[in-house]
Amino acid sequence: MKIALIAHDRKKDLMVQMTTAYKEILTEHQLYATGTTGLRIQEATGLPVHRYKSGPLGGDQQIGAMISEDDLDMVIFLRDPLAAQPHEPDVTALIRLCDVYEIPLATNIGTAEILIRGLQAGFADFREIVHEMEHKPLSF
Ligand code: PGA
Repeated sequence: MKIALIAHDRKKDLMVQMTTAYKEILTEHQLYATGTTGLRIQEATGLPVHRYKSGPLGGDQQIGAMISEDDLDMVIFLRDPLAAQPHEPDVTALIRLCDVYEIPLATNIGTAEILIRGLQAGFADFREIVHEMEHKPLSF
C-alpha cells in the first residue's frame, strides 16, 4: 500500500514516535511524505520515504495529486488544530480529496493508530480491489 505521512510542526515529534513504534508494519509499505516530515521520519527510523516539497511550498498539493490519480491508499495527516497554517487552503483541499476518492484518512494520532493496526489486519485490502478494477478493460 502507498501511505502518505504528514505532520504539522507541533505534531512532528508525535509522528516520529508513531512511525518508530509501528516501523515493523510500515516497512512493508511504500511511504510518501511532505519534505520536513519525511526527513524527520527517515532520520529517526531509517525507513525509506519518498519526500515531496515541504507542505507550505506545495507538498500537500503534490500528495493531493497522487490521490486524484487514485495512486495513494492511506493518508495520515497529524494536523495541529491550535495553530493557523499559511497553507490552510491546501490542507482543506487534501482532506477534501481523500473524501472524494474514499481514501482512509487519519487527522489525529488516535485514528492513525487504528488505521495502521487495521492495515496490518488487512482492513485496507479493499484498496487492491479498487486498483484491480481500474486496470480492467470495460466490457459492455
Ligand atoms: P512539512 O509539511 O512536512 O514539510 O513540514 C507539513 C505541512 O505543514 O503540511
